[in-house]
Amino acid sequence: MGSVVLKNVPEDKILGREIMDTGVSMIGLGGDNVFCGTCGREIMHDMPIKTMKVNLLYRCDACGGINEVPQDS
Ligand SMILES: [Zn+2]
Repeated sequence: MGSVVLKNVPEDKILGREIMDTGVSMIGLGGDNVFCGTCGREIMHDMPIKTMKVNLLYRCDACGGINEVPQDS
């Protein structure tokens, strides 16, 4: 298990991509701990985020920032 820091996506770069709201209940069954690229809060725990749908965006519950999985992770 590792840590993945997401990359902040500016509003004008969303380009109609699907946005998933995150919250305290975002706990997976094994994977990485995922952190907001804007405020650094842990927004998902044990999520297999690297194997999840590409191009999905994640909205941080704390700061409202939009994040994506970095391409090089
Ligand atoms: Zn945040």
